[in-house]
Amino acid sequence: MKNKFKRLIFFSAHPDDEVAGAGGLMLKALKQGVRIKLVLCIDPAEPRFEWDEETERNRRLDEFKIVADRLKAKWSYLNFPHYPEINYTTILPCVKEIREFRPEIVIILQENDYHTEHQIVARIVKRAVWHAGRNAFPDCGRPHLVREIWESDGDRPLFDPNYFVDISDVISEKRKLFLAYGSQQKRKDLISAIEGLNRFRGIMYKKGKFAEAFKITHFFYG
Ligand SMILES: [Zn+2]
Repeated sequence: MKNKFKRLIFFSAHPDDEVAGAGGLMLKALKQGVRIKLVLCIDPAEPRFEWDEETERNRRLDEFKIVADRLKAKWSYLNFPHYPEINYTTILPCVKEIREFRPEIVIILQENDYHTEHQIVARIVKRAVWHAGRNAFPDCGRPHLVREIWESDGDRPLFDPNYFVDISDVISEKRKLFLAYGSQQKRKDLISAIEGLNRFRGIMYKKGKFAEAFKITHFFYG
């Protein structure tokens, strides 16, 4: 992979965002000894026709922990409500995560996504990356400068990706990893959608059989 980095954090709105957007990248990074942290921002509780909101929360958290375990990743769960506000109550917990783990890169689903909660989490995390580097908020730890923000494909493909990771060698592992999210796959054939998009990226951008797309922003601290 292009950039040498030792630590990455993926901030997700929902359990499964991280595997869908960057599962292949993280599986490859793991083989190279990169340390990974998964931060789940929003409480996945939601009443469903088949079971109550508590059961939904527990199932999805259990699945998230299995995925974290397979990626040998640390994880945390910020418990934001659905459609969270963009203010210090949501930004500062993300600042704390960044300052504690001290990653070179932060990954999110793209800000310009179809899903409103993906958009909101992206906006919160971008502000957190900025505040994490500032000489403020000592309660959140020592300042830390993140080098790059990587936005990935979300519920709609990135319009203008500028970096691709050939994931052909880990595509079957990515599939298996996504199967940990059985509660989601049962409702919709997400694996086929994700693999189809990865195949498209690989063929159209000549990046191998399967590729993940990203839009990398080098972060400037004002
Ligand atoms: Zn999501």
